[in-house]
Amino acid sequence: HPSLSRFLVVFAVSGGGLVAYSEANLQSSPKIDELPDAGNQKKRVVVLGTGWAGTSFLKNLKSPSYDVQVISPRNYFAFTPLLPSVTVGTVEARSVVEPVRNIVKKKNVNVSFWEAECYKIDAKNKKVYCRSTQDDKEEFIVDYDYLVVAMGARVNTFNTPGVEENCLYLKEVEDAQKIRRTVIDCFEKASLPNISDDERKRMLQFVVVGGGPTGVEFAAELHDFVSEDLVRLYPAVKDLVKISLLEATDHILNMFDKRITAFAEEKFHRDGIDLRTGAMVVKVTDKEISTKEIKTGKISTIPYGMAVWSTGIATRPVVMDFMKQIGQANRRVLATDEWLRVEGTNSIYALGDCATINQRKVMEDISSIFKKADKDNSGTLTVKEFQEALNDICDRYPQVQLYLKNKKMSSLVDLLKESKGDVAKESIALNVEELKSALSQVDSQMKNLPATAQVAAQQGSYLADCFNRMDECEKHPEGPLRFRESGRHRFRPFRYKHLGQFAPLGGEQTAAQLPGDWVSIGHSTQWLWYSVYASKQVSWRTRSLVVSDWMRRFIFGRDSSQI
Ligand code: FAD
Repeated sequence: HPSLSRFLVVFAVSGGGLVAYSEANLQSSPKIDELPDAGNQKKRVVVLGTGWAGTSFLKNLKSPSYDVQVISPRNYFAFTPLLPSVTVGTVEARSVVEPVRNIVKKKNVNVSFWEAECYKIDAKNKKVYCRSTQDDKEEFIVDYDYLVVAMGARVNTFNTPGVEENCLYLKEVEDAQKIRRTVIDCFEKASLPNISDDERKRMLQFVVVGGGPTGVEFAAELHDFVSEDLVRLYPAVKDLVKISLLEATDHILNMFDKRITAFAEEKFHRDGIDLRTGAMVVKVTDKEISTKEIKTGKISTIPYGMAVWSTGIATRPVVMDFMKQIGQANRRVLATDEWLRVEGTNSIYALGDCATINQRKVMEDISSIFKKADKDNSGTLTVKEFQEALNDICDRYPQVQLYLKNKKMSSLVDLLKESKGDVAKESIALNVEELKSALSQVDSQMKNLPATAQVAAQQGSYLADCFNRMDECEKHPEGPLRFRESGRHRFRPFRYKHLGQFAPLGGEQTAAQLPGDWVSIGHSTQWLWYSVYASKQVSWRTRSLVVSDWMRRFIFGRDSSQI
């Protein structure tokens, strides 16, 4: 059915308990300075993190009725989608960062910034424990009325031996800078006169682990750097260069439409990028990576000069510790409700990569949507009603839509075809059950909103909007009707609007998957990518820097000096 192509749905059921706080050990704090009260009646809002979520919250917070304190180990915001470009010097590191103080300075909101990391959240006493990132590591405590946790996530190594010691990551600006230096180092070392050919070959073997959007984009950028710039500068060793991309599943870019995956895989083959799917890394030493072929169990080793690990994210230890306090120890990611409030608390919010909206009641919702769609209470749904219900589900749960569309929606599609007009309600119920069991097998990553800048930024601006209207809502508490429970809530729940996703593939070609199942691939999409990323810059300063970097690269190529 043509309109079914719109139903890119995946929803998820996840568990998650709600237990009262443990009175645990939080009182035994060391002697630390407690920051003085602001001395006014303003509510204290503490924001942890200056990434996409935290910055979007700060940018959109307009109400002067708060005293805001921002705590983050870095005093800048980084435009992460351009980090792969920083690794090879297509864009300079300074062009993709903006000081937080610049972002908040014009506001009429009272905002202070502390360059420190939070190492403990005491939810019971409404305090956060912080440690300065300066050499003295000075510790202090900050009280809050509202806490906004936007600390992002850490790299997930899946406890693979040797990864931490030997692989580079691509998560922070420093990581991108380090990769840039290491690539050039490898070329310089390989060009030295007294080394063996085998060693030279090893130095110029670059391995990227993880075929997600970041790994793929980095491999593509590296390939462009080598083929457009370095081959001219290092002609003696150019034929020894090899880029390998390892992915444990059968395909790269799994979360994208199949057409994009197929195009990317074909392009990489044409470009000579050694794509190894179904290969899981089991061990990394200082010179070799061992992989296991998933189907056969065969172990092989790849000698390498530089390995970049990009296989996804995991929860930070400080967040795990906080989860234990609030009865979420059995979860892998901090759970919030649809208003982004951390479950088990009432004044702590969590957004971005560090949290996930608990989808426990998704199936209940779906059943109630189907029930609602049966307008004449006849016990059957017309195709139109059925489609409307599915549309509703898509609106509420757009996350990870492709998985079901590609793999698990077929039973619903068949049902529609067979029904010739009417769909028995019981059959739908059956299919909901089918979907439920299918979903329980879906990878847990797929159950949640994708960990992207887009989600984080939308959550930040949604929450700021709620805070802006908090005063007004307290005076007029009659808010919109709750969807799930009876009564009303002050705010509408957070709804993610998927605006599409890009996958740059090198050679001035990009793939884009846009809303409405629209796929666009090629050179023109690369121009769309340039314009979207230029427009999304956080300030005119970074916008002009990024655009001038692109122009510089077009005219002079990339710079291969080691600084
Ligand atoms: P982050 O942006 O990671 O920010 C976390 C903040 O918390 C940081 O300021 C950090 O310093 C701070 N922090 C850390 N620990 C502490 C602590 N203990 N106390 C206080 N503060 C702390 N998404 C897209 O949508 N499109 C893309 O093209 C895209 N490309 C990407 C490319 C790369 C290389 C990477 C790494 C990510 C990319 N992403 C992309 C994903 C996107 O960057 C993340 O989803 C997004 O950054 C999440 O925002 P966040 O605010 O939750 O976390």
